[in-house]
Amino acid sequence: MRCPFCSSTTTQVKDSRPSEDHSSIRRRRNCVDCGGRFTTFERVQLREIVVLKRSGRRAPFDPDKLSRSISIALRKRPVDPERVERMVTDVVRQLETSGESEITSDQIGQRVMEALKELDGVAYVRFASVYKNFREASDFREVLGELSGDISGGSGTRGRADTSGT
Ligand SMILES: [Zn+2]
Repeated sequence: MRCPFCSSTTTQVKDSRPSEDHSSIRRRRNCVDCGGRFTTFERVQLREIVVLKRSGRRAPFDPDKLSRSISIALRKRPVDPERVERMVTDVVRQLETSGESEITSDQIGQRVMEALKELDGVAYVRFASVYKNFREASDFREVLGELSGDISGGSGTRGRADTSGT
């Protein structure tokens, strides 16, 4: 299992146990190279899904990869790993039961963003910033506006929306 932080493949399993509802097995892992800690989940795959990428290439859907990008967005956020795990399971189930054999990477990103928005605002912005690439500053303002009404209008009144970086 590749480390999501430094891409090393030398990682160790520290602990392994079933989730609350026994729909998955959670493994805590440690990266030997950078010391990074992350968690992986093993779950039943209902069906093979093919992802149609923006480049037009196709690749098999990889729930672990999805889970990793979500963990990176949630890094150091005070969110219960059980809730994260349920969220990932939900997104994967939605995709698997959508009836489509091919799903675009945009559709996946959209579902993850919707799920993250409910889970943790900061993680949502992090994920969205990677996913949407924020080619335009207006994208970022739009996302912040969606997040909470109180920062859509004013600029810097709360010192919270640090969007001024050049
Ligand atoms: Zn590492």
